[in-house]
Amino acid sequence: MPSVVQVRRPYWNTEIESKLNTPEMKDIQWAKLKKKLEYFYEATPFWRSRMERAGIEPGDVRTWDDFHKRIPVFTKDQYREYAEECQGDISRMLDGFMGEDAKRLVCLAATSGTTGEPAPYPFTAEDRQAWAEFFARQLWRGGVFPGDKVLHGFGLSMFIGGTVLCMAMSDYGACCIPLGAEAGMEAIVRCAKLFKPKALVCTPSLAEYMIEKAPEVIGASVGSLGIERLLCGGEPGAGIPEVRQKIESAFGAKLFDIGGGGCSCEAPGYQGLHFLNEDIMLFELVHPETHEHVPLEDGATGLLVFTQLPGTMGWSGLRQTPNDIVQVFTSPCSCGGTGFRFRIIGRGDDMLKVKGVMVYPPAVEGVINAFVPRVTGEFRIVLNTPPPRVVPPLILKVEHGEGLSEEQLRDLEGEIAEAMHRRIKVRPRILWVSPNTLGRFLKKKNLFERTYEKTRQRQMEEKP
Ligand SMILES: [Zn+2]
Repeated sequence: MPSVVQVRRPYWNTEIESKLNTPEMKDIQWAKLKKKLEYFYEATPFWRSRMERAGIEPGDVRTWDDFHKRIPVFTKDQYREYAEECQGDISRMLDGFMGEDAKRLVCLAATSGTTGEPAPYPFTAEDRQAWAEFFARQLWRGGVFPGDKVLHGFGLSMFIGGTVLCMAMSDYGACCIPLGAEAGMEAIVRCAKLFKPKALVCTPSLAEYMIEKAPEVIGASVGSLGIERLLCGGEPGAGIPEVRQKIESAFGAKLFDIGGGGCSCEAPGYQGLHFLNEDIMLFELVHPETHEHVPLEDGATGLLVFTQLPGTMGWSGLRQTPNDIVQVFTSPCSCGGTGFRFRIIGRGDDMLKVKGVMVYPPAVEGVINAFVPRVTGEFRIVLNTPPPRVVPPLILKVEHGEGLSEEQLRDLEGEIAEAMHRRIKVRPRILWVSPNTLGRFLKKKNLFERTYEKTRQRQMEEKP
């Protein structure tokens, strides 16, 4: 049946999204923040005690400056301390974070947590609504509309991008096919062929692996599946130009980077993610060490800090950091879409220091992927001692492409080292491995091979 060309409105929520990044939005945020501070103080024992320790009451926050200077940033280490204080008792943690509202949960998801223990992510009925709105704006900007079929390929189990995203997609009116990364690559490829989804949501590494695996499973390239849109998140790949190019050309589809309340756009090149949820999440930057407020100006870089603004919200945090280092762009984007843009430079936890130079894995990934097909694109950063400090040279285990001679590999190592030195000021040593020897990731990628750790990686890997 020929498709009907429809002229759609540019945004899911025209009323709010037309006000993004404007003084009017600032006023909306301020009104919500004032109410939210009252809620934290009156209803949640944990946040109240933090405010008390900082010697501040909601009434003392009269200006943005008061908020930035007097409400402390809640770090991952402090989260861990609180978890230990509660002896890992999740019910106790939730009582602290939510007070009485912990009795009204409709879903209890979790993140993997910094220590490997699951960190609870609770949802009340109101949270579910807010999340549906939060994701709806991203789906619309990514060209996935109510009625479209979407194959879900993120990890389904517990993770926010799992069942919670599936619920949000259904609430939005899209047809979610909840397969999940756990099903394994063969099932994902077969299901895509059988159900013919318009869009696929997954990690970029799953999309990359699918490119390799499709010919083996269905005897045809991934491009034959007819997927038009990929909404990828959970790791930085969808923001790395070399990786984007690889995925878009293989699928013959448009790739959108989603995450953190934003979605990338169709402007040429990669312009970052437009932040679409200023009325739901207060997005701030602070200095990574001093936690001093960094104004959201074009090109500013800092540690990302969020405060959730709607009423109760189980997943609330008051100036809580996901530990991502981001850069923002407030100048208008050539796509014409609203919302300032941001780009994730790297996760604070993944930062390496090589002779005083800060290195984030996405930058390494970009350089390696520029050498495809002489490399497969798969690599690991080998850490012989605990990060962040790396005693030079930085060691990379890299899968070379098919049919390269030893001499060609020597030359290639020189070229990669040179390119990496130009881009990130570090000259790596390369350990070559044959194609298809490194595990492939179905969920979040773990690019580190920690030789100092005996325990096996918890990541979900699949041998190609
Ligand atoms: Zn744009």
